[in-house]
Amino acid sequence: MKVFITGGAGFIGSHLATRLLDRGDQVLILDDLSTGAMENIEHLIGRPGFSYRIGSALDPALVSECVDRCDVTIHLAAAVGVKLIVERPVHTIETNVKATETVLNAAAKKQKLVLVASTSEVYGKSTRIPFTEDDDLQLGPTSHSRWAYACSKALDEWLSLAYLREKGVPVILVRFFNTVGPRQTGRYGMVIPTFAQQALRGEPITVYGSGTQSRCFGHVQDAVEALLRLIATPGAIGQVYNIGSDEEVTIMRLAELIRDEAGSSSPIQLVPYSEAYPPGFEDMHRRVPNCARLEATIGFRPRTSLAQIIRDVVADQRARTGTA
Ligand code: UDP
Repeated sequence: MKVFITGGAGFIGSHLATRLLDRGDQVLILDDLSTGAMENIEHLIGRPGFSYRIGSALDPALVSECVDRCDVTIHLAAAVGVKLIVERPVHTIETNVKATETVLNAAAKKQKLVLVASTSEVYGKSTRIPFTEDDDLQLGPTSHSRWAYACSKALDEWLSLAYLREKGVPVILVRFFNTVGPRQTGRYGMVIPTFAQQALRGEPITVYGSGTQSRCFGHVQDAVEALLRLIATPGAIGQVYNIGSDEEVTIMRLAELIRDEAGSSSPIQLVPYSEAYPPGFEDMHRRVPNCARLEATIGFRPRTSLAQIIRDVVADQRARTGTA
């Protein structure tokens, strides 16, 4: 199989590309290196079946050429990270909506299979735990830029399903919950690599708000496994799936676990939201996926424990920073 990955030099995309090549598939990556990085794919250059293009997923001719050359497209290119989203809302909305439109339009020509990545952010402020795919979405006001991201991804989902219904494009939608693992950087505000770096450097671990907010963290290898199974399952077409772990942890507890794993004596510092983020930000208190639909379709659910995830990330950060 030949797989086209938009955003393939990003964190999830580069892990996916590695797995595909390992099992003998061919991979074509498109990335504009805005949040993706060459260092994520350097180890793949020269491997049989691997090719990449540096360019924009908003470029119709380029995207069309790549989609045509492959059997399936996995569309991961998007604006990511809360920081970027709040600081660059125009870029966020335009990238998310136009890129998905460009990919779907290209896929419509020859009815190529497309898996479109969405996000748990679309559940917004819902307090109905766990979040289930057919739940109502509860977004905040337009004055808060964070919701522009959720809304742009929700529009991507509607657009994808519209392409299926009106134009017969086979689409699969996935909502990634917090996904972590080696190679993720803290540069875009993601909490686990940030805490791991702070702990290893002996700097204060910055817990935003009260630290009672919670998340579920899934390992990127589990997310990749779910993607591979979904694209091989005809029954997944036209469906939306949560991809994430349901092991919940408060951010305060997370800070303690990471500090212990790093053998660090960093203090844990509470940072008010007003200092942590620019105006226009609202945090979510809890976010837990219902994984039943995913498991029913592919016979698999993310299963790496939080303890293992923390071990992997701390080891990765240690290796990258040369911290003893
Ligand atoms: N967070 C934190 N300190 C940091 C970065 C993030 O306390 O240095 C918190 C953030 O406020 C949120 C959680 O960790 O409650 C997860 O943040 P992240 O940006 O990783 O993902 P989100 O779930 O917000 O998309």
